[in-house]
Amino acid sequence: MPKAILFDASKCSGCRACQIACKSWNQRGATYTTNTGSYENPPQLTSECWMRIKFNEVDAGTADTPDIKWRFTKYQCMHCEEATCVKVCPSGATAKHKVTSGDEEAYVVMTDAAKCVGCNYCVATCPFKACRYGEADKSVFRCVMCFDRISNDAASFPHMQQFGKEWTEKMQAEFPRNIPACVQTCTTGALSFGEREDLIKKAKARVDYLKKEKKVAGAQTYGIDPVGGVGTLRYLYVLEDSPDAYGLPTDPKVPAGVEGWSLLAKPMGAFALGGMVVAAALNYVIHRRNAGLESKEEGV
Ligand code: SF4
Ligand code: SF4
Ligand code: SF4
Repeated sequence: MPKAILFDASKCSGCRACQIACKSWNQRGATYTTNTGSYENPPQLTSECWMRIKFNEVDAGTADTPDIKWRFTKYQCMHCEEATCVKVCPSGATAKHKVTSGDEEAYVVMTDAAKCVGCNYCVATCPFKACRYGEADKSVFRCVMCFDRISNDAASFPHMQQFGKEWTEKMQAEFPRNIPACVQTCTTGALSFGEREDLIKKAKARVDYLKKEKKVAGAQTYGIDPVGGVGTLRYLYVLEDSPDAYGLPTDPKVPAGVEGWSLLAKPMGAFALGGMVVAAALNYVIHRRNAGLESKEEGV
């Protein structure tokens, strides 16, 4: 059974506790940012910030009577059904990891840092611009739906293994497991985690309520039905307005050539990585090329 996270924008207060919980749980560092006149911070996803709350402003009134409203959005990797990042990865580092053994549908998209060659094809082709290359760790990062928590299997979490940050008894005692850190932390009940089918029912019921009881004409869901070329999403949304108003792409575009590239690159990557010398040389060249790349990445 597919797992999912539901973000109900109609309940979000923009407190960003989820953003901090994500950083804290996943042990990501603070980065220096500049105030640009917005509450939104940081201004885009980075290898140190895997999810962020976007502060979109819309005018829901008329020319004579403006009615400015916030449209808060939780933005991160969507764990797409047809994940472009998985298709283009030549080394197999980015893959769908099963949350429950034997259940192909219950997966999370993650990058195994030990296998990542730093080619950045996933970063360049992600229709949501939701993954980022980190120079310090020489790997690509995204929301991992707290795989370690929801699978209850810390040993299988590649990032923990790579960084040598052992799962301690203290961490186990302090943090309730089985649901993602952001969901655990949400102060208003805007976030839920569980079986995707259950969350779809919950999302549809909420949209009905908003339309009928609150007269929110624009109430709708996002991610339940396939979007663009990436299929359905493992992040579901309840919105009070069009996806555009929330900065969510209505038609996320998969770059032309991704399918053909995946047929070509994967066998070549597997061949190249089969040889230790070739693999080491390839890694050296690519990671040197990536110096300074992170600061130039454009994103969401
Ligand atoms: S949102 Fe981007 S990084 Fe996440 S699964 Fe989809 S293609 Fe991959
Ligand atoms: S599921 Fe985990 S990794 Fe993903 S945004 Fe929430 S806290 Fe961060
Ligand atoms: S913790 Fe909940 S209410 Fe606060 S910003 Fe995140 S989703 Fe919104």
